[in-house]
Amino acid sequence: MKNYLSNEQFRVGCRCRRLLWLQEQEKNKPIEFCLELSALAQNYVYGGETVWETELSERSEETLRLAKGGAKVIKRPAFKAGDAVAVADLLVLHKDSAVIYFSYPALNPRRVFCREAGFIMAAAEINGFENIKVMLLLPRKEFVRHGEIDPREFFAVYDMSEEAKMLRDKSYIFSRVLGETLECRGEPEVDLHKNCFNPDSCKYFEHCTKDMPYPNVFKVARLNINTKLQMYNEGKIGYESLRNDSRLTENQRKQIRMSMDKVPPVVKKKELSEFLSSLWYPLCFLDFESWQPPVPPSDNMHPFEQVAFQYSLHVIEKEGAPVIHREFLAEGEADPREALAKQLICDIPEGACVLAYNKQFETMVVSGLANMFEDMREPLEKIRDNINDLMAPFQKKYYYDRRMEGSFSIKAVLPALYPDDPELSYDNLPEIHNGSQAMLSYSTLADETPERAREIRRCLLRYCQLDTLGMVKIVEKLREAVK
Ligand code: SF4
Repeated sequence: MKNYLSNEQFRVGCRCRRLLWLQEQEKNKPIEFCLELSALAQNYVYGGETVWETELSERSEETLRLAKGGAKVIKRPAFKAGDAVAVADLLVLHKDSAVIYFSYPALNPRRVFCREAGFIMAAAEINGFENIKVMLLLPRKEFVRHGEIDPREFFAVYDMSEEAKMLRDKSYIFSRVLGETLECRGEPEVDLHKNCFNPDSCKYFEHCTKDMPYPNVFKVARLNINTKLQMYNEGKIGYESLRNDSRLTENQRKQIRMSMDKVPPVVKKKELSEFLSSLWYPLCFLDFESWQPPVPPSDNMHPFEQVAFQYSLHVIEKEGAPVIHREFLAEGEADPREALAKQLICDIPEGACVLAYNKQFETMVVSGLANMFEDMREPLEKIRDNINDLMAPFQKKYYYDRRMEGSFSIKAVLPALYPDDPELSYDNLPEIHNGSQAMLSYSTLADETPERAREIRRCLLRYCQLDTLGMVKIVEKLREAVK
């Protein structure tokens, strides 16, 4: 079957052609669109006929057939243009004009949507539609769900027609370039650029920097991305070339010095001992994963409100007792928070000390649950009040290992403390290596085959478990350090 370029791939390609190609080589990659949002957008205009085909070129043919047959409103239209197919949620046909609606799970319009609107307009024109308007539907941030969602209240509408007109030719040409990229046998050569970090850190960053000296300019903590890229383009990549750069702060230069001089870990024993002796048994290690559904699953919720769907918990009942693991992962139901809160209360022994890494997030999740479920408020508030932050001793520099490269995130601390332990390496995890990937994978669970959903669940459980097992190991290492 021919591999047509879709809107989703167009958007990825706008970020980076190399990213598009790499993603295409990966089997089982999570898809980034939201079927629920699209279903709502399809009902933005009442009635109409639906294009049911799933294969992109058939979807385009069916759109034309329905339009020629006199349909006024067509849901799930598609427009084939060369090796690309632009898809949308809705096509409304008037006597001499057409209005195309497309949706995206974001709160604010971004530049890339202008290019996508241009791509849709160009493809629709190639299919013979005239006087086209292209409208973007985004969830309204003020929307609060009360019962069934009315798409007219839920969506904010942005008229992208002017932008689309300006960009349609460029977007069409670009879609052809991206189509060729998809067919490329070898990896396209694309140097690092600002989109490697925008809107988030690209998951192929390690891959694209594998031939660089390590550590390098991108490891310098709290240095602005533009400055990093500027230094990179000047050839100032390895630490040796950065050592005396006046654009770096004293702390950044210290980070580089310690790394180059292979300084052994710096331990403030008194402060670290005080932190460790502030912990008590039962001792728990807790980590949540959450996602932000664009379509609120329950009443009184806004679009993109945080919904915890998973936790991992390691428990040590008393000194010397074995470490017990407990976990929760939602079955993919709309709103798993009540089930999660109930199990959390059962799993955490009463009065336990709860350690989280960067406790702000775990505290916020537990507070949210306490506010939501009046009957569980008291035990949840007790759990929240007993949360302590394992990031604090690193943030306060009670323990610093040069291999942390100035960062105190668990992804930097754990491998620095256990550099040779493959069991504690995030790189060795299958498929899901960070919170964003966990969130994206969970959000697609409902649309996956049962077999694939089981695989994703296994990866989610492994990922979250490593976060709390990592915390257990970090505490062990800190205890050794103060002996
Ligand atoms: S790291 Fe940068 S160059 Fe590499 S694939 Fe990602 S966006 Fe493209």
